[in-house]
Amino acid sequence: MRKRQLIGTILILALAALVAVGLWQTSTPRAPRLVAVARHPERIMGTTCTLVAVVPVSERPRATEALHRAEATLRRVEALMSVWLADSEISHLNSAPAHREVPLSPDTRHLLRAAQHAAAATGGAFDVTIQPLIQLWRSAGERGLLPTQADIDRARSASNWDMIELTDVGAVTHGEGFSADLGGIAKGYAIDRALEDIQSSGAAGGIVDVGGDLSCFGRPPIGEEWLVDIKSPFPETDLGELRIPSGAVCTSGNYARFTTIEGTRYSHIIDPRSGRPADAIPSVTVVAPEATTADIWATALSVLGPDGILLLPREAEALIVLGPQPDRRTICTPGFLEFLQDPPDALTIWENDHPSSQPG
Ligand code: AMP
Ligand code: MG
Repeated sequence: MRKRQLIGTILILALAALVAVGLWQTSTPRAPRLVAVARHPERIMGTTCTLVAVVPVSERPRATEALHRAEATLRRVEALMSVWLADSEISHLNSAPAHREVPLSPDTRHLLRAAQHAAAATGGAFDVTIQPLIQLWRSAGERGLLPTQADIDRARSASNWDMIELTDVGAVTHGEGFSADLGGIAKGYAIDRALEDIQSSGAAGGIVDVGGDLSCFGRPPIGEEWLVDIKSPFPETDLGELRIPSGAVCTSGNYARFTTIEGTRYSHIIDPRSGRPADAIPSVTVVAPEATTADIWATALSVLGPDGILLLPREAEALIVLGPQPDRRTICTPGFLEFLQDPPDALTIWENDHPSSQPG
């Protein structure tokens, strides 16, 4: 008798539990099914581009609109800031006569100021005024003839911030030969502004990827966090994958873009201190909340190497691939290690001035 009562009680409790679960399921609204809407605009900054907005299925049209806006933003920043376009604002500034104020858009003024701060923060390693040196090494590559020290000295003396004054409406250049190149920062800036277009549309998540430099936020199409492959300078070396909740990842290196002069490869990144290509560092990857910051520091650390880690802003983390074979080594900041899925073998953790080796 007691056994039958017990079975009865268990059955009643089980039934009550089923009803409770049923009620809970009908009273709790289901999370909307998300869809990733993607766009691959062509001919942006001479490279490939992927834009993604993750939205509830019903908001597909809104996502498509946001991606169009993001694409327009990328094109607008390129049209303003590319030295490759004769009609860009930066080209107008570079060809303007000295002492005459050139009006500039708020975007270009903002970025020139950011570049000026970056020059100070990186101890001069990141310097957009070195366009005369960039031009010198580019034409040396085209002629296949190394520049003389006198050529380098002349280009260096035209590469300095004393030759430009930023005003409330534009900029004034002083002296002859001033020329700025925003190639090491404009892509990051464009990515930040384009991501804002996707964020402000109310998307649950999104990413802007221009040639492998990218920024993302919120929900990825799959999983909980964004997975980003680290670009490796050597095909045989896999540097692994980053897992980030949001933020930007930019990579600089001499492996992708270089000139060959008299049989030697020279980087497209110039060390402003020597006026010569910065060839010691095969690649640098930086993670930061903003792509502008990541872009600046990937270029700056390509010049400075591991010593530059001491100058890195608190919110940025870096991984640096050092030296050609057989001295190849990979180092990273402790914060970068936390984003790494499977740290590569023999990674050195670089903590301020006390590096400590960590087996993979
Ligand atoms: P990134 O690929 O972001 O490292 O940018 C490289 C580009 O930045 C080069 O193609 C140049 O246009 C420009 N650049 C080269 N060296 C420097 C430097 N030391 N500081 C600022 N910009 C640079
Ligand atoms: Mg850069």
